This record gives sequence, C-alpha cells and structure tokens, in this order.
Amino acid sequence: MTVPADLTNRQIRLAARPFGLPKPGDWELVTEAVTEPEDGRLLVEVSHISLDPAMRGWMNDVRSYIPPVRIGEVMRAGAIGRVLASRHRDFAVGEHVYGEFGVQEYAVSDGRGVRRVDPDAAPLPTYLGTLGITGLTAYFGLLDIGDPQPGQTVLVSGAAGAVGSVVGQIAKLKGCRTVGIAGGAEKCRLLVEEFGFDAAVDYKAEDLKDALRKHCPDGVDVYFDNVGGDILDAALARLARGARVVICGAISQYNNTEPTPGPSNYLSLLVNRASMTGMVVFDYADRYAVAAAEMAGWLADGRLRSREDVVEGDVTAFPETLLRLFSGANVGKLVLRIR
Ligand code: NAP
Repeated sequence: MTVPADLTNRQIRLAARPFGLPKPGDWELVTEAVTEPEDGRLLVEVSHISLDPAMRGWMNDVRSYIPPVRIGEVMRAGAIGRVLASRHRDFAVGEHVYGEFGVQEYAVSDGRGVRRVDPDAAPLPTYLGTLGITGLTAYFGLLDIGDPQPGQTVLVSGAAGAVGSVVGQIAKLKGCRTVGIAGGAEKCRLLVEEFGFDAAVDYKAEDLKDALRKHCPDGVDVYFDNVGGDILDAALARLARGARVVICGAISQYNNTEPTPGPSNYLSLLVNRASMTGMVVFDYADRYAVAAAEMAGWLADGRLRSREDVVEGDVTAFPETLLRLFSGANVGKLVLRIR
C-alpha cells in the first residue's frame, strides 16, 4: 500500500524529567509526516496503547533493568496496531501486531519484538493485559518465584489491577487460599465477586495488621507485592515459615521525591526462613508463547477472567490517563484506545 502523502503522526515525547507525579509540562506533543517504510521495516497504525506504572520509572535518569527514555524521545509504550505498509518479509499489510510502538499514532519498526495478535481469538486490549505483559508478569512471578502449593495462603497487593487480578486468579486455580489488598469498597467487592478471591482487604479503610491477622490466620505463604511501602511492611509481619515474597513492583514509591525507606519488618525473613526475590518479566521472553497459550486456554474455559479499563481518546489524553494508575482510578489493565 502507498502511504497517503498528507498523513501525519502525532507523538507524545518526554520533555522533562518529572519531580514527583508527572505534570503536563513534562510532555511535548510533536507532529511529523508519515513516510513509506524502508526496506526491512513495517509501518503500524497504532490503535491501543498500554499504560504501565513502570513508565514512571523509565522517565527517571537512573540505572535500571532498561535504559531511561531520553529527553525528546517518543514515550516508550507497548501498543497494538495494524500493519499499514510493509517491506518486512514477516509481516503483511492488514495484520494486527503487538510491539513497543510508543505513544504515537504511527510507528515504524524493524520487526524486533513485534508479534502478531489475533483479534478473532481475543479482544485487542486483552493482548496488552492478561495475554500480554501484565498477565505474563503475574504468571511467571507467581508460579516461578512464588511457587504456590495447594492449600497455601497467597496474599496479593494491587489486587484489582492488571497484574494483581491475574495473580489472585492463578493462585486460586492452583488450589490456594487467596487474599487481595486493594483501595476502596467497590474494588474489594470485585475481588471477591468477579475475581474469586477468598477475602479482600481495603487498605484505605481497614487496619492492615488486624485485617491480615483475620484473613491469613496461618500466616502468608506467598506475598506478591505490587505496591511496596507500608503494605509490604504489614505483609512481612505476617509471613509463614518458609514464605516467598515476590517483589514485582512498588507503585506507592514511584513518585517519591525523597529516598525510598526500606521495609522495617525485613527481619521477619530471618525469623521465618523466608525469601524475598525481585522479578522482571522480560527475563522470561523465551517462555511467553507457552504461558500465553496456557492462559488463553484458561480464558476460553472461563477459569480466568480478564478485565481491561479502556479509555477512549487520542494521544493527547496520554499524560492525564497515566495518572489514573497512581490515583487508583483504574480497574484491571489500563489501555488508551486512540482509534
Ligand atoms: P495496576 O495494578 O493495574 O494499576 C496500579 C494500581 O496500583 C492502582 O489501580 C492502585 O490500586 C494501586 N496503587 C496506586 N498507588 C498506590 C499506593 N500508594 N498504595 C497502594 N496501591 C496503590 O498496574 P499494573 O500494570 O498491574 O502493575 C502493578 C505492579 O506491577 C506495578 O508495581 C508495576 O510496576 C509492576 N509490574 C512489574 C513488572 C515486572 O516485570 N516486575 C511488570 C509489569 C508490572 P488501588 O486502587 O488498589 O490503590
């Protein structure tokens, strides 16, 4: 296909490194012309953009598991789109694909990290959530690191979010008692009624120590941590002997303007012969396809429910939509649909 001569691409670029919560001035809207892809490349018309807490970390100029987004660079984002033009032998015009396309309307790619997705097998936003990075994070973090055994108690924070809601459901599938921590009565209701948790704790309204004692009477065998901070500390204080703590994320600390304090209850690891292990989903890339196929099976037979929170807008809605993750306005996987 020939790319129309007047086609333009609006992009959200990083303009400044944020201090605390990102503000409008940290972003810049840039419009560029769209041109035919060169040999070995494909042009993607982006439709769905993934919004992730990790984006906040990528905006900082610090050493991490991935280089920071440079000032003036298009904001990094996983996204889904349709191939509009292709001079890449593996991708054909009209195919739906996932890749790291960034916060922009059109992306040119050399095909690295790009994979086809099937819109007839699952709704496109699901490939950013349960069948995408957040689902895979839940799968590998829980099963490889958490190693849950039937009858054990699995505690999950950020439980109504993209990763947490899948962790709780997989733990249930594996025969565990599941306890979720989330903010607000409505999210707690969802945890039990929609995602099948055995109990839910509203960290905004309840005393965590009392609630964990009540819902985890034999202690916590696996704590899957998405939030860090006081919730991590409360969970550490409730560990069972031999417990595994999975450090997946610490969203409560991502906008800190002061150094992040350590967990004061860490000696519970010693007392309980427990372990605390960090995980990065990218390390499991060679097993993504097998895990996604297993989760697609669970989705198909109704044992797993996927929830996406799809915000409609254009790329200019990205900065404000990102903040929903930090205020807790999202339920399930937060996605910006731009067409
Ligand atoms: P999410 O849980 O869908 O959304 C973030 C949720 O965090 C919000 O809905 C909010 O829920 C909660 N939250 C925000 N501020 C909080 C605070 N101060 N204290 C407690 N909870 C707070 O996001 P996600 O994409 O699934 O990511 C969850 C975690 O996994 C993040 O820490 C992320 O960085 C991490 N992650 C790690 C990897 C990896 O490879 N290690 C990969 C993907 C994601 P409430 O309304 O319940 O507060």
